[in-house]
Amino acid sequence: MKPHGYVHRALYSLAALVAVGICVAAAALLWADRRGTWDAAYVASRNLADGLAGAIGRTLHVYDLSLQGVIERLHEPGVALLAPQTLHRFLFDRSASAEYLGTILVLDRDGLVRYDSASIAPPLTSFADRDFFRVHRDADDVGMYLSRPYRSRLRGGDESLAVSRRLANPDGSFAGVVVGTLRLAYFRDRFSGLSIGERDVITVFRNDGAVLARDPYSMSDLGDDLAMSPAFQQFLIRREGAFVGILSPDGVRRLYTFDSVAGTPVVVAVALAVDEVLQPWVRRAMLIVPVTIALSAAVLALMWLYRREMARRGEVERRLEAQAHTDGLTGISNRRLFDEVLEREWQSALRERAPLSLLFVDADHFKRYNDRYGHQEGDALLRRLAQAIRQKARRPRDLAARYGGEEFVLLRPRTEGRQAAVIAERLRKSVAALRLPHQDNDGGIVTLSIGVASALPEPGQAAASLVEAADAAVYRAKEAGRNRVAMAGR
Ligand code: GH3
Ligand code: MG
Ligand code: MG
Repeated sequence: MKPHGYVHRALYSLAALVAVGICVAAAALLWADRRGTWDAAYVASRNLADGLAGAIGRTLHVYDLSLQGVIERLHEPGVALLAPQTLHRFLFDRSASAEYLGTILVLDRDGLVRYDSASIAPPLTSFADRDFFRVHRDADDVGMYLSRPYRSRLRGGDESLAVSRRLANPDGSFAGVVVGTLRLAYFRDRFSGLSIGERDVITVFRNDGAVLARDPYSMSDLGDDLAMSPAFQQFLIRREGAFVGILSPDGVRRLYTFDSVAGTPVVVAVALAVDEVLQPWVRRAMLIVPVTIALSAAVLALMWLYRREMARRGEVERRLEAQAHTDGLTGISNRRLFDEVLEREWQSALRERAPLSLLFVDADHFKRYNDRYGHQEGDALLRRLAQAIRQKARRPRDLAARYGGEEFVLLRPRTEGRQAAVIAERLRKSVAALRLPHQDNDGGIVTLSIGVASALPEPGQAAASLVEAADAAVYRAKEAGRNRVAMAGR
């Protein structure tokens, strides 16, 4: 009647597997989801940086062509001979019309304005102190130069960038600068069309770190320099790429994606706040994680409940089984267990070719005891006799049982008849020695009659024959005067 332990073990393992499986599956799902979210953000920011760089590149190229056009026309023979009106139209007519392009100035070698696209009479202003002038004066290989942002002197403080090229004499010496202004409104209008998160930042800067434009826009950013972190320097070497880091003073971790504007020192950086990028994923995770934990916990709780219920049932079963094999009055084994054990031991004795002995114990004149002392006292005596008989069942396989009424049995495997008779005699004496009063019995004390039977079981022989023989021996002991032991078959 043992519960199938391996079935339970398999069930527990399966439950643990399901619980762990749920967790692993959820973790894998979350991991893949996080990567997907991250990759999508990366691709989006790359596309954004790429698109911006392309647009800025095209605009700068158009401006550069305008400057180069002015330079070419300045070198046309006979320019010096043209009347001022005609010269002005000749120099600037085709170039000054581009959107966001402010005035184009031609500066001489001292930084003074020689020609101004906005007026025939050039202002008496010197730009000798400006970076876009000095850079061309000091080197002849700069090409197109982009200045730091500044407030225009000529246009009421409008924020601008200067786009400039060097003017050279036929011998290559410095002759001045052609400079156009690009209003920063250009960048602001470009940025305003983009949808980016609240804490995301787009920065356009020169590759020396000078910030040209930034979104979200702030006046104080003008002329700022980017912090030259190692990651950033790494990028400058590679000209494009991405990294995660904290670059801005607000301490926000961002995913930085870069793209450079081909043919210019301009770089576009799109910085997405990592928190914002991952926020949709975090929201999904906050749903998945508790559900996963709840599911796993539910599986484990189910298993625990099942286990507790099983233990409870096992306990009840064991108690019922014990009850079913115990005599209610005396507490020793009952007739039912004796029948089972006798059958089992009979088969064992048959296999082992070992003798099996049975003592059949019957109280003498017990009916009279009941009649004189009452049924209650009779019960008490039965309990005492049961104890006395149980004490003779010393070995693990010995069995003392109440057979019925005032009759008890003691089954002894691997015991020969003679040995059994000795034990029976000891039992009889031990009870007589108790000197329990029994006025209506010979000698005035409680005595026992014991029949002893022993057998070497043979195939085909029934176990019951041993009981019959012992029972018959008791009968003979009674016949012979009670308070004695009788051997079966003698
Ligand atoms: P003998 O010496 O020939 O064995 O005489 P006896 O009176 O012991 O034999 P008998 O079988 O005639 O009587 C057995 C009596 O045991 C009958 C019954 O009243 C009594 N008895 C049987 N079961 C119980 C029990 O559970 N409690 C009590 N108090 N008496 C019982
Ligand atoms: Mg009897
Ligand atoms: Mg009796």
